[in-house]
Amino acid sequence: MNIAHLLFNSAQEFRDVAALARGTIATASYRELWRKVAVMSMHLRARFGLARGDRVAFAMTNSVESIEVMYAIWHAGLCAVPMNAKLHAKEFAFILENSGAKLCFVTPDLESTIAEAAKEAAALKEIVDVTTRSYTFMGVGDPGTMAEAEPTDPAWLFYTSGTTGRPKGATLTHRNLLAMTLNYYADVDRPRPGGSIVHAAPISHGSGLWNFPMLARGSTQVFPESGKYEVPETVELMNRWPDCSIFLAPTMVKRLVEHPAVGEIRPGALRLITYGGAPMYVSDLKRAMDALGNVLCQLYGQGESPMTITHLSREVHGLREHPRWEQRLASAGLPDTCVAVRVVDEGGKPVPMGEVGEIIVKGDTVMTGYWNNPDATARSLRDGWLWTGDVGAFDEDGFLTLKDRSKDMIISGGSNIYPREIEDVLNLHPSVAECSVVGRPHPEWGEEVVAFVVPRPGQAPTPAELDRLCLDNIARFKRPKDYRFVDALPKNNYGKILKTELRALL
Ligand code: AMP
Repeated sequence: MNIAHLLFNSAQEFRDVAALARGTIATASYRELWRKVAVMSMHLRARFGLARGDRVAFAMTNSVESIEVMYAIWHAGLCAVPMNAKLHAKEFAFILENSGAKLCFVTPDLESTIAEAAKEAAALKEIVDVTTRSYTFMGVGDPGTMAEAEPTDPAWLFYTSGTTGRPKGATLTHRNLLAMTLNYYADVDRPRPGGSIVHAAPISHGSGLWNFPMLARGSTQVFPESGKYEVPETVELMNRWPDCSIFLAPTMVKRLVEHPAVGEIRPGALRLITYGGAPMYVSDLKRAMDALGNVLCQLYGQGESPMTITHLSREVHGLREHPRWEQRLASAGLPDTCVAVRVVDEGGKPVPMGEVGEIIVKGDTVMTGYWNNPDATARSLRDGWLWTGDVGAFDEDGFLTLKDRSKDMIISGGSNIYPREIEDVLNLHPSVAECSVVGRPHPEWGEEVVAFVVPRPGQAPTPAELDRLCLDNIARFKRPKDYRFVDALPKNNYGKILKTELRALL
């Protein structure tokens, strides 16, 4: 099934419901969106001469046009290459070249960057700015018929955020995206028609992936006018649009909770916040639950199995009286309905419950491979299992606790140390705004633990206080041997901390 069918069905069932909104104003009903997409699809084939399977990229700050562009691409039987708007020209050039995209849609702020990047992308023939007449003209004419698509046809090349090395294009098929959509209804939520999702996080990532389950249930997809995440604007939109859902990275949840505007969210306005993509520390999570109520659901996934490996549901968040409540909050929850999840040793053999190993995943959401990168594919997909590169352990109830990326684990004096455990403790200190723990080579121990700490404004936690906190909470050998106080931590465009850069500083 072509994933664009979701829109076709919604255009029948939810005809006059607002499909898209720019800020507080609705811009298209489901029926209007469907028609526009079908006309644009005709242009993609007739005017641009694109044929089944061709890749079409876009580099756009979040805007309603991104949804139009994506569905037109699928409607025409093409494959979308969403790119994060904050990438560097060199990264755009790499993705455009690697994907072999023939056409790229842009918002005006990215026009010149993409034009620069295009010099290194041989296949790219045209760049279309979505605010120009060229784009408006794509909405004029007769609708084309929706192209057939096999479940195995690539639909979305998801370029990994690349916390190390070059990004890789996880090839997601129509089947992968459909399985992810159904899994949302099974494990996350069943949105109600007329509800809404505010796209405050980049559409090229989690928020964009959530467009499917929301669109298929007749919700309004709302794009902040600023094109980015501004807390007061986001809060205004939460209050404006009914039954609001939103996807936020953990750092974004933290910004919301620490902003005075959080108090202005009207009771009942917020239906659901899904968070994930990076660790959420228990102390931050509890603060968020106190400020927002029981509206949080965690996801653990990766571009290679989008939004779907495990989830920690709203219900589990709310079971405060459960004896292992805190332990559960520190976990990434239970395996998703649509996948098999195992924790294995290097040979692929499941390790006993409670022991740490690499997380591997199998199911209909798992990518078919990395685009144009057979070596990386062979390393990640073995016997049908996706090797995630994440390590973790299952507990007796089947909850998966993530330790860290395997490459971030610190080995000191032969013991494995998981930075996240130490970060969780350091975050308990009221003067710590953020922290990150890495290993530094040590002649005797192999590696030693070093913590980078960002103090809250005007505050100065001391190494002695932080040491005391560690001694009170974790084994002695795990405590940092050095604290580096910094103004900010290096992060990539999805807000993930770049530990490689921290290690380089050492
Ligand atoms: P990406 O492909 O950019 O979405 O990055 C996926 C990676 O982010 C995963 O392999 C994990 O290392 C990390 N990640 C995703 N979700 C979570 C989560 N809920 N908790 C901790 N780390 C996460």
